[in-house]
Amino acid sequence: MPPSQPIKAARGVRDVMPTERAVWEIAETAAREVARAYGYQEIQTPQIELAALIERGVGQDTDAGGKELYRLVKRGSEELVLRPEATAGVVRAYFQHGLNQGPQPARLFTMGAMFRYNAPQLGRYRQFHQLDVEAIGDASPAYDVECIEIALRWMGALGLRGLRLELNSIGDRKCRPAYIDKLVAYYRPLKDKLHPDCQRRLETNPLRLLDCKEEQCAPFKAGAPRITDNLCEECAAAFAAVKAMLDAAGFEYVLNPYLVRGLDYYTRTVFEILHEALGGAQNSLGGGGRYDGLAAEIGYGDTPAVGFAAGFERVVMMMAEEGEEVIPPPAALVLVVPDGPLFKEAAEVGRLARTTVPTAVDYSSRSLKAKMRAANRLGPRWVAILNADEAERRVVQLKEMAGGGQREVGWDELPALLEAELTG
Ligand SMILES: [Zn+2]
Ligand SMILES: [Zn+2]
Repeated sequence: MPPSQPIKAARGVRDVMPTERAVWEIAETAAREVARAYGYQEIQTPQIELAALIERGVGQDTDAGGKELYRLVKRGSEELVLRPEATAGVVRAYFQHGLNQGPQPARLFTMGAMFRYNAPQLGRYRQFHQLDVEAIGDASPAYDVECIEIALRWMGALGLRGLRLELNSIGDRKCRPAYIDKLVAYYRPLKDKLHPDCQRRLETNPLRLLDCKEEQCAPFKAGAPRITDNLCEECAAAFAAVKAMLDAAGFEYVLNPYLVRGLDYYTRTVFEILHEALGGAQNSLGGGGRYDGLAAEIGYGDTPAVGFAAGFERVVMMMAEEGEEVIPPPAALVLVVPDGPLFKEAAEVGRLARTTVPTAVDYSSRSLKAKMRAANRLGPRWVAILNADEAERRVVQLKEMAGGGQREVGWDELPALLEAELTG
């Protein structure tokens, strides 16, 4: 039985239609170019991972690893989830395939779909796409700066302006526990005044109290102890090194003591790149930081690492607003238009022309007039028209759509002629 309503896309996901896809392609190409320019290699990990990897690597207390996690219906003994972010999978692959035995750090990047069951809103989707860049296996803060630089270079290459880099350090397992105690001691007497999520965070994930966006909790932030005043010697030195390198390179940044990560495994540097034109809580284009604690969390040895993730949806949205205008090329530059059912012959013309220029063939049963109207909408640069007589003589009428000029061209001359026209 047919459905009573036409079936549409699921809630919170979106189609990238061809015109917009051309913009995505520019963003992807630039991401590859910039990452490779810094010596990063592309890796592709599955969108499905074992639940344990994400629960332990992302943290069940976080939205991404908890209530927003897409769990697959269990088949067999494995519990599987859709990845909410790429880092845990990339780190898993780094160990599983022995990159930890190679030169360090392993410089890796990946692009792809991530999934979170969250409330859909402008610029936020349940399936979203990220560029993810990771330097795994070295603790030097210079790699923190390298990641920041790649992120900024990529967004800059896409024509984005008005970017703001925010920076913080959240310490490590040596200094953070004592800081968290101070933070909890500060917030404990205020518990009843906090919004319900924050009351819970006070028990489960107190650091997240700092990045609460609720007005109800805002008045208490300014008085809260700052982690950057509570760093151990090593963390303080690393933070100073990051700032000195950014200063030397001329990158402006804003210190934000309330910038923490929702994910548990982050240590030391955290950063975020915000776009001033994007409003409210949805103004982040991407962010990242050091996550020296992740590898041990998922069952491998202690391994320092740093990385960032940036969202394609928002980057592409900002490109459309302030980047250069992107006019996608027509799908085909040549359209072969047979007058009548000359499928074999039209296919052969298409095959020849396609050796030099993207070429589509109109196989429809429409009249020649209707086919020419369709050609006008498709917008190829040329149409190659042929009737039975021309097919017999192995020629086409090549018509330039814009200029209107038309001439007879032999099939075998077509590839070279098109190529010369295109490059000339
Ligand atoms: Zn709150
Ligand atoms: Zn420390």
